[in-house]
Amino acid sequence: MTGEASLTASTLVEALPYIRRFAGKTVVVKYGGNALAGTSEHDALTLFAEDIVLMRLVGMKPVVVHGGGPQISELMQRLGKQTEFVDGLRVTDAETVEIARMVLKGQVNPQLVAAINVHGNFAVGVSGVDGRLIEAEARDPRLGYVGDVTRINTEVLEGLLDDEFIPVVATIGADETGQAYNINADTVAGVIAEALDAEKLVYLTDIEGLRRDVADVTSLIRQATADELDALVAEGIIAGGMIPKVSSCTSAVRNGVRRAHILDGRIAHVLLLELFTSEGIGTMVVADQDALDQFRAEQHADPAQLAAGGVA
Ligand code: ADP
Ligand code: MG
Repeated sequence: MTGEASLTASTLVEALPYIRRFAGKTVVVKYGGNALAGTSEHDALTLFAEDIVLMRLVGMKPVVVHGGGPQISELMQRLGKQTEFVDGLRVTDAETVEIARMVLKGQVNPQLVAAINVHGNFAVGVSGVDGRLIEAEARDPRLGYVGDVTRINTEVLEGLLDDEFIPVVATIGADETGQAYNINADTVAGVIAEALDAEKLVYLTDIEGLRRDVADVTSLIRQATADELDALVAEGIIAGGMIPKVSSCTSAVRNGVRRAHILDGRIAHVLLLELFTSEGIGTMVVADQDALDQFRAEQHADPAQLAAGGVA
């Protein structure tokens, strides 16, 4: 065997216990609007689609949730639509929520679905309106149609997963009158992971993970408990777009999701690296110190034990 072939073989063997362990498990992945691997949007989608299809083919149940902030801003600009602000917060008026719906369900969602389906008939796109997946209400009337989730109805996702499809969710919700709301995709990924009792919740973003100091590239936090993250939020160390990810991670792990991860979507195949290698990558969030101790014990455990469901 050449060196390269034996490396491939050892990589596959290293993956074996993880493949066994995750078979049949639900993994919710939030694909960030800014998270791009490769050198173009096309590359990024292609690499991401390969990871998702591979997960599905080894027996996992991936669910993709996406936002589209940059794409919505781009279309608004092209349409010459100005964004209003109230107390520094962006207002989503009736026209803006219509643009958001067009971009999310008409552009970003079918792009993701098509990229996955290059490999077979796997992905089905839904928005939160389909099967009343995401019920929402206005967060604050002054902000217009920015919604908070009031309820998740998982039937449509469960049906798709039972039929071995990969659901791809655009995060538009609706209230009982059918009015549409734009909903933060990080938040939706978290509540869907909880509602589906997922094994993992994964955020792909544009930074290598959580940093103890945003300006310091060497300050990556590799593992944290929910309580530790609450403290970091209180200290103001978690800011901006990281806040909804972190609060969803802490809520998810406290409500039964086994592990949550914040990963760098700019790294090619970062999902596979996280799922199928023992090193771990990015930031991992678990419920408490016991769960963290268990993780550390597993890292040193032998593969057979791991495949059997981990050490006690
Ligand atoms: P996405 O499109 O993935 O939602 P966001 O820009 O909304 O991306 O959120 C990721 C950003 O959060 C990072 O690029 C970073 O600038 C910011 N951020 C704030 N606090 C932190 C922190 N403590 N660690 C890492 N990133 C942080
Ligand atoms: Mg964001």
